[in-house]
Formats: sequence, C-alpha cells, structure tokens
Amino acid sequence: MPATTARGQSADDRRIRALRPPKPYVDPFVAHGTAIDEERRPNGGVERALTIFLAGAECPFTCSFCDLWKWTTNEPTPVGALPTQVERVLTSLSQPLPARLKLYNASNFFDRRAVPLEDLPRIASLAAPFTGVTVESHVSTIGPSAVAFAQQLPGKLEVAVGLETVHPHAAAKLNKRLDLARFDGVARFLMENDIDLRVFVLLGAPYVPVAESVAWTVRSVEYAVERGAAVVCIIPVRGGNGEMERLQSLGKFTPPTLSHLEDALDECARFTDSVVTVDLWDVERLPACASCRAARIARLGRMNLSGRAAPRVSCEVCGTS
Ligand code: SF4
Ligand SMILES: [Zn+2]
Repeated sequence: MPATTARGQSADDRRIRALRPPKPYVDPFVAHGTAIDEERRPNGGVERALTIFLAGAECPFTCSFCDLWKWTTNEPTPVGALPTQVERVLTSLSQPLPARLKLYNASNFFDRRAVPLEDLPRIASLAAPFTGVTVESHVSTIGPSAVAFAQQLPGKLEVAVGLETVHPHAAAKLNKRLDLARFDGVARFLMENDIDLRVFVLLGAPYVPVAESVAWTVRSVEYAVERGAAVVCIIPVRGGNGEMERLQSLGKFTPPTLSHLEDALDECARFTDSVVTVDLWDVERLPACASCRAARIARLGRMNLSGRAAPRVSCEVCGTS
C-alpha cells in the first residue's frame, strides 16, 4: 500500500500510485547515492558541488512524472536518520570538501514528516563547512521554516523547486498542485530573505504537443529567470513509473530526444541573468544517433559550465549539424 498523503488521495493520486512498479526496500539510515560535479554560478564562477541523495519519508504530492518515490519510505523519517546519512558521507570524503552541499531527499525538506525538526541543528552543523547549501521543496512547504534553517547555516541557503512547465493545460495535468501565483510569491519571499532559488523545468512534459515541447521549456525557463532564479535546470522527463507509459500509449507523452535537449539549451543561452543548465544525469537513455551521441553530450557538458553557445556537432551518419 502506498504512503498515506497528508491531504488524502484524489482519484488521480490513486491511479498514478496504482500504476507504479513495486517500491524497493529503502534503509532510512543509508543515503542512496552521492555525486560530485562542477557547477557554474550566476557570478560566473564554477564551484564543486556534493549532492547527497538522502533516503527519507515519501513526498505527499503525487506528480504524474515523478519517480523519486522509489527512494523513499512509507513511514516518517526516523529522528537521527538524516544526520547519520550526511555524517557517513562526509566522513568518507577526502579534503578539501566541495564548496556546495546539495541535500536532495526526494521529497520536501521543510515537510517535518520528511525532515524532523529535531534534526535541523545537527544537519546545519554538518553543513557548516560549505559556502552554499541547496535543499529541495515543493513551493507549498516553503515559509518561515526555510528562513529559520537559513539562519542556522554559516553558508547561504538555496532552495530548489520544481516549476516544471508554464503551459497552462499541461501544468494542470501534472497533478503537482502548483499555483503560479504561489510560485511567484515564494520566489519573492526567498529573495527578500536572501535565500537563493534554483528551479527545475521539464523538457517533454506530458500534454505539451511535441512540436511545441522545446518552445514551452524555453518559455518556462524564461519565467523562472524573470523571477530571479539563480539557477534553472532543464530536466528531460523519463518514463518508467507506469503513468508515463499510460500517457505515452494515449499519445499524451512523447519521450524527449537528445536533439530536443540541445535545442532547449541553445535557445536558453540568451538568458544571462541566471545559470541555465541541462540535467545530464541518465542522459544516455535519450534517443540519439549512436555515432555522435557522445560528442553531443560532451558539448552540453561544456555549455553547462561556460554558459556560452557552442557550434553544434556535425555528423555524417545522421546528418546532424
Ligand atoms: S513534489 Fe517533487 S518529489 Fe513530490 S511528487 Fe512532485 S516531483 Fe515528486
Ligand atoms: Zn549522428
């Protein structure tokens, strides 16, 4: 049985949850992954960032495209579990530590079922060596507790939120319950409290016609840039959660291609007030020509770091140029 949501479950919630494959066992005391990457920041600098993928309680929302629930527990996160996960990862790393710590808990950092209040001082203390700390949250759970956490950190807090798409019909069908006015208010609230905003935007959101897919992604990125996002990350929608396969069979979802991702980043090179990047995690699954795929992914990686447009890769096999 899936986790009980805070608000009870709608018919859409129940359908999406029923289509999911079985959830694997998740140990709430063991982080399910880490990554160290280089990231560009709005000041033009490049910093090293450590991401810890934390295990914890499932998010109460049920977005149609989400597969993060695989890394969550049905029960509330036990007190002490998150500091244990963070401490284990940090003690396994060699010095010097990266500049940024990203704590991604596959849910909402300010949902007390996912991150117990009692653990915040210990998490803040573990995060003290970092100049920037990023956590993730649905806009609906961002408020004074974010400011209180920011005040416990020596470094600067950044909150990552999913805007996903500003296409009105597609946004409504995501089952995310994201209200644009609420997003705008949260963007202002974070700025007023000197907290950075990172925004996730989807490429290939279901119900966006495939011919308009890149244009709506660029429009959504522009929306985030205009609201002061420090970083906007474009994430290609992936299948595998059951609901995406249902939508694909109905013609409502077309998996994005590597070319779409390149088009989106190329068009976003004009936005210079925010860092706009594409998510290259799992990029190998995007449909693309086998001959030029590696060179095209490498080009995207370089653009992520430089922020500057670069010539497209040409390929005699697929005729890409
Ligand atoms: S709010 Fe985030 S974690 Fe929760 S269901 Fe939606 S995408 Fe997944
Ligand atoms: Zn090719």
